[in-house]
Amino acid sequence: MKCHRCGREIPEGDNYMHLGETLCEDCYLDIRMAVKACDPWAVHSATRFREGSGHKGTEGLTDLQKEIYELVKGKGKVRKEEVIENLNLSEQEMQRQLATLRHCELIKGRKEGDKVYLILYR
Ligand SMILES: [Zn+2]
Repeated sequence: MKCHRCGREIPEGDNYMHLGETLCEDCYLDIRMAVKACDPWAVHSATRFREGSGHKGTEGLTDLQKEIYELVKGKGKVRKEEVIENLNLSEQEMQRQLATLRHCELIKGRKEGDKVYLILYR
């Protein structure tokens, strides 16, 4: 049996089901963590909270996610590879953090020519 996302062979009994997909433990945890880290209602209340308090919208993020956010904010736009290098992340870790940051509407990708940059959501 193979993982639907990463294609890795899953040992018998170690498979997880998520929305009809068979996933390995790593991919399953990735999804669960991304969802848990930032649900829409948390974003909503964080948005309202920062309107009144002058905070910048990184409430509820992990230190690593804040670092990525600050890096993008500081540079205006930054390539994913630069972030990985700067913060010493693995590609997989970066994908995971980006999923959360996108979901939180903090960072998005923008294509310029054949390169993709990360920029602030707004
Ligand atoms: Zn997998």
